[in-house]
Amino acid sequence: MKKLTNEFLDELVTECKPYSREGEVVKDIPGQDAVDQNKLGVCIIDMNDQVYSAGDTDLRFTLQSASKIVSLMMALDDFGKEEVFQNVGMEPMGDFYNSISHLESHDVSKPFNPMVNAGAIAVAAMIKGKDTDERFNRVLKRLRQITHNNSLKMNQEVYESEKRKGDRNRSLAYFMKSTGAIAHDIEESLDLYFRINSIEVTTTDIAKIGVFFANGGLCLRTGKQLIPMHHINTIEAIMMTSGMYNEAGKYAVEVGFPVKSGVSGCIVGSVPGRYGIGIIGPAINEKGNSTAGGELLQRISRQLELNIFSVIRQQKD
Ligand code: GLU
Repeated sequence: MKKLTNEFLDELVTECKPYSREGEVVKDIPGQDAVDQNKLGVCIIDMNDQVYSAGDTDLRFTLQSASKIVSLMMALDDFGKEEVFQNVGMEPMGDFYNSISHLESHDVSKPFNPMVNAGAIAVAAMIKGKDTDERFNRVLKRLRQITHNNSLKMNQEVYESEKRKGDRNRSLAYFMKSTGAIAHDIEESLDLYFRINSIEVTTTDIAKIGVFFANGGLCLRTGKQLIPMHHINTIEAIMMTSGMYNEAGKYAVEVGFPVKSGVSGCIVGSVPGRYGIGIIGPAINEKGNSTAGGELLQRISRQLELNIFSVIRQQKD
């Protein structure tokens, strides 16, 4: 087994960079259009708050779909598992993240799971607050606590673009309104969804989210239990089955711990009891996952032996 060091990560980043040529950068996210598709960065934080990193860790990007785990965390904390899963399913969908057909062909009373767009909009609709500002500020405040980054904020230009170009998401939301799957105000729910998608981060910020989950919702620095552990277990299980769009099965096999990607090319990984991982590699494949980032994640898992199933067996030997 390899030892986690900055040099080890440096080598892996160099090895994996060429995989960025197999993907493409999403051009319609403002700012992303100018990003060099060969960028690749990784940050890993362990349970002693020790940070390891390599590559383009200063790159700023928006959470996009990685925000779905944050919204789910907020809704679970606000309402608990039972009520949340009355509004959204927990089964993997096995189709594109913004699929419309599955809303009608499956169970019209609720979308498949919180990791696809329809499910994430339904989840955002639940987050408590008197108006969209208050609801968004609650999310931001929680994220700032988790990342220890008080300057974390939404990228206004990305938000405006998400809103302007959000017709696909709007159609998902209005369909859910028509079937009664969402009872809240649709435009407000969409607005909150777009804002949360547009929160700007670095690999360090998302590695902090990963390590917070890895630590079962306990803040490493303050020792405070910010979210009950059973909610984190639920989120991690859903990341494992649905976090990588319709490549979730491949990642469960090849990586073997909970991960969630976003179309900005980011990946949040959480190795329970061990590490939080943040990766950015802006070139993504047709399924929506970073090509170089995905390769890097697989190599990290293999070489550091992070697959949670083999960890369980190693402990038994
Ligand atoms: N803003 C994108 C959307 O809502 C996010 C998609 C993603 O990262 O998967 O369609």
